[in-house]
Amino acid sequence: MFEDIPVDVSPMYEGERIRAANMFVELAGPKAFGAELVQVAEDVEDGAVDVVGPKLSEMTEGEIYPFAISVKIQGEKLEKELEGVIERRIHELCNYIKGFMHLNQRDQIWCRVSKEAVEAGFTLEHLAKALSILLKEEFPIIEKISVSVFTEESEVEAFLENARATYEVRDARARELSDEDVDVFYGCVMCQSFAPSHVCVVTPDRTALCGAINWFDCRAAAKMDPEGPIFEITKGEVLDNVKGEYSDVNAMVSEKSQGTTERVYLHSVFEYPHTSCGCFEAVAFYIPELDGIGIVDRDFKGETPLGIPFSAMAGQCSGGKQVEGFTGLSLEYMRSPKFLQADGSYERIIWLPKEIKDSVIDFIPEELRDKIPTEEDASSIKEIRRFLRETGHPIMERLKASKAAAAEADVIEEVPEETEIQETPMAQVAYAPEISMPASGGVRIILKNAKVYAEKVIIKRK
Ligand code: SF4
Repeated sequence: MFEDIPVDVSPMYEGERIRAANMFVELAGPKAFGAELVQVAEDVEDGAVDVVGPKLSEMTEGEIYPFAISVKIQGEKLEKELEGVIERRIHELCNYIKGFMHLNQRDQIWCRVSKEAVEAGFTLEHLAKALSILLKEEFPIIEKISVSVFTEESEVEAFLENARATYEVRDARARELSDEDVDVFYGCVMCQSFAPSHVCVVTPDRTALCGAINWFDCRAAAKMDPEGPIFEITKGEVLDNVKGEYSDVNAMVSEKSQGTTERVYLHSVFEYPHTSCGCFEAVAFYIPELDGIGIVDRDFKGETPLGIPFSAMAGQCSGGKQVEGFTGLSLEYMRSPKFLQADGSYERIIWLPKEIKDSVIDFIPEELRDKIPTEEDASSIKEIRRFLRETGHPIMERLKASKAAAAEADVIEEVPEETEIQETPMAQVAYAPEISMPASGGVRIILKNAKVYAEKVIIKRK
């Protein structure tokens, strides 16, 4: 089937990483631009592949090029709603090709071709051919398929504009529904190949954190392949409407994560946040000093107010982990009325990159639009605090209230020299994304996402 392709094509290459030293060229990604799009169409010429723009043999080693993949599919049972789900499989299937690396989705794709693959004679036509064979194999309802690859800058630009308009139509449709309007949600375990305990819960209000799959897409996918990686989840009992906790969602997440995650709050970063695989478009992170929440997306290149860039933060909370204070999310979720509603929604957001703010500005309550700083207004905790104070962000009231509560707790002066506060058995008393401490033997011990539990808390007068 792949006999014309000069490199191996197999799921065993899925985890292959192509480092800069080993790469022939980079395609799309953060230093260029690109997109991928699957569209149901008529009159598709089955098996047609096409490369528009410079071929690999015409590219310069070490350079970065714009890049787009267009897949047209036709089939009697194919619904438009399946486009997003089939498109999401491009990531996994491209990675079956030895020497080709594909990251992310939609207009965030980032690919590399290895030097070895080019030396073996691999071309972009081979990529298009392998993809069309694999997609047809994965989705038997595809009767005809054609794949075009673009590397010509102006062609990729035009394609990108069209792709973004298509994504917007898909996303806008999902915005018309809310969690209460439906009887079932959907789960997705496509990313378990690299994040084995990760389960996405997709609801009308919470599109998948990769940003590529919404509730309608999942409904179509589950109908097409009930045994596939996308499945229906009944809601069961609503345990907490504001946090977004449902008994059947908990049970399904526990089953599909092999018991790693037992509870999920769909609309909070605290206690039991939604787990994160690694494909998330953005991360919401708690800023303890100001009791607020920041957001950072993968396009943001600077440091976050926590002093680390997106990549380091993603490393701390990805892989299917449930890390209190962090949750991966899609930018579309920031347009939902339920966006982190249990935490205060936009009233709790105290920092985000300008580009994201501009893209969701219509969904931020008007009275808060000038009160949430971006990297252009503030970067450090001190600068953010000053900005929040000067603009009268509601978080300042919250901070005042918690200060007053703390002052009240200073009744400690009234308590004896030493007081024991009996907590519930092994209650969590502290959390830190990272604790670093020197140890003997010239080594340093670093605890990541440390949670400190104690049976008893003792407060001593100094
Ligand atoms: Fe599925 Fe979630 Fe991965 Fe998107 S991020 S492909 S919804 S598991």
